[in-house]
Amino acid sequence: MEFLFQKHLQHAAQEPVLSRFSTITDDNVSLAAMTEFQTEALRAIVARAYKYNSFYRKKMRRAGVKPRDIKSLADLVKLPFTAKDELRGKPWILLAADKKDVSLINVSTGTTGGEEIYIMQTWRDHFLNEFSAGYRKLVDVEEGDIVINALPYEMSSAGLAFHKVFMDSSHATVVNVGKGGAYSTPEKTVVVMRDLQPTVVITTPSYAITIAEAAAQINFDLTSLPLKKMFLTGEGCSPAFRQRVEQIWGTKANFYYGSLECGPLGIECDAHSGYHIPMGHVTFEIIDPKTGEALEPGEIGEVVATTLLRFDSPLLRYRTQDLGYIDPDPCSCGNVFPRFFMRGRLADHITIKGIDFSPFYLEEFLMRLPEVGNWYQFVAKPDNNEGLKIRTELAPGVQPTPELADKLASKMEFAIGIPCEFEFVTNLPRPGSKTVRVVRE
Ligand SMILES: [Zn+2]
Repeated sequence: MEFLFQKHLQHAAQEPVLSRFSTITDDNVSLAAMTEFQTEALRAIVARAYKYNSFYRKKMRRAGVKPRDIKSLADLVKLPFTAKDELRGKPWILLAADKKDVSLINVSTGTTGGEEIYIMQTWRDHFLNEFSAGYRKLVDVEEGDIVINALPYEMSSAGLAFHKVFMDSSHATVVNVGKGGAYSTPEKTVVVMRDLQPTVVITTPSYAITIAEAAAQINFDLTSLPLKKMFLTGEGCSPAFRQRVEQIWGTKANFYYGSLECGPLGIECDAHSGYHIPMGHVTFEIIDPKTGEALEPGEIGEVVATTLLRFDSPLLRYRTQDLGYIDPDPCSCGNVFPRFFMRGRLADHITIKGIDFSPFYLEEFLMRLPEVGNWYQFVAKPDNNEGLKIRTELAPGVQPTPELADKLASKMEFAIGIPCEFEFVTNLPRPGSKTVRVVRE
């Protein structure tokens, strides 16, 4: 096994595009150097996709573009988009290597519906992923840290991908507690944390609350743990919800934005002012989702991602269906990567009285109301012409009265400009997979 690791490590290090940029470190990383790296990586990836993958070759031929036409990042727009639906139910479609060289296959979670999407990794790509200059301050996990990984390990990439990051790249100690799998319960996770005293936790915003409820059951105070950082991923949430999580856990919580198909897409710094785009792994475009045309920095549109460290299953101009905008201005934290500001997923938006709302925008105002509990649903009706219905639990000790419903409704209406109606419930179902904040009735 040792031999296999060495062989692949050497192989990865010999990639021309990487060996030339191996001198970029966390201390000397610059925007110019990363842009130069991205340009070369893009050219290498496109050439490889064209040569070894018939799906991309056919698409590029149809678009009348050849690898030699891609000289700079600005030439990206010449390449055709890759859509989610093109990948569904076609396991090997992205492969630009021999099937026998594939070492790991992850499967989509299914939350967006439709047939499965398969993303595969060869040993070479596994090691290529270690290239990570500029991330150290964003992922400040190091040798000696004990990381509780409370993400799902099965099917998709979430748990395994972070396991690798913290174990291989950060040299930390990782505990694979998972998220409600065959042996994993919130209660057992609390006991493991009590025993091992972790310094870092990674989980989803909603599971952070589920674990906290299990801790409260046995009167274990999460703020007694020596935590220095928490990473939230898998689901988005509003700043107000995040603040609740930080208060309950007694530590700073930073977001990590990624997906099965693309890998890492954004890492939040301690300034909590957008997600830094991990330029070593991915290059970003923001497009008008209707016309496909490129938008300027600051304009909200759909994220289109091209991965730069996957030679054997390239992903070119992938339409993520996530919405947001890019701010190229320098961040107060000092990291040189531009920042992405997430504005939710296209499919999750609710239209009320003809106005389009992101659920996180609505959640922000809801979570500022101290009487409201941590579990709620926005109920979307087909016509939605009367306003927003909010089904929610109340904070512990708060009595459900018609007066309270009126008071909360008028506060929400004042905040979002739409009539609101509250329905109080005592026990919304705790999610086994991703949390559903919008229910369609
Ligand atoms: Zn920053």
